[in-house]
Amino acid sequence: MITIALSKGRIFEETLPLLDAAGIAALEDPESSRKLILPTNRADVRLIIVRASDVPTYVQYGAADLGVAGKDVLNEHGGTGLYQPLDLNIARCRMMVAVRKDFDYDSAVRQGARLRVATKYVQTARAHFAAKGVHVDLIKLYGSMELAPLVGLSDAIVDLVSSGNTLKANNLKAVEHIADISSRLVVNQAALKLKHAAIQPMLDAFALAIKK
Ligand code: ATP
Ligand code: MG
Repeated sequence: MITIALSKGRIFEETLPLLDAAGIAALEDPESSRKLILPTNRADVRLIIVRASDVPTYVQYGAADLGVAGKDVLNEHGGTGLYQPLDLNIARCRMMVAVRKDFDYDSAVRQGARLRVATKYVQTARAHFAAKGVHVDLIKLYGSMELAPLVGLSDAIVDLVSSGNTLKANNLKAVEHIADISSRLVVNQAALKLKHAAIQPMLDAFALAIKK
């Protein structure tokens, strides 16, 4: 049995065509089904539906053989025990620093003031500001980061941005680009060896189907 870990929403939607290229089709839609283990057209392949940030953990421990996870999530996880053979070029967005429109970020940084930064991406934020030599107090959040600067929880946020519409709607502006983000295929290192005959053809099919 090959188990593939995916999260609901954009990663599931954008992974479907890649699975299709490998001859794998989900028999149920996770948006309408309450099942967390979804059968496929292949008796030897199943999908499991997990939180986006839990995908690396399932694959690391071998509870899933393969998974699809954003670079944002992988950077926070650290990637231990994971082989990352393919950038799938899906779920593309950017990791950015954003502040209130009326906040003078450049002079705050220039003056060397301690910056309060709220984010779900604590490791990423810590590394980014350490590399710039900016002192920060990090505040861990689990979602809706855009709210933090509006109610005085933080000066800045580190968050994913795609269109920028959410920032705009909340009177925020992006002031720094940290990284380009897309999703990667992750593979359990032991599974790749033990189930090589089943996994390698999938990797080859995914590689051919990736949109540049
Ligand atoms: P949860 O909703 O379970 O807390 P999440 O918010 O991280 O998790 P999604 O919003 O579905 O889940 O994001 C899944 C992945 O998609 C992220 O890890 C990231 O790589 C990517 N992603 C997030 N936001 C965007 C976006 N606006 N545009 C494109 N890709 C995105
Ligand atoms: Mg979300």
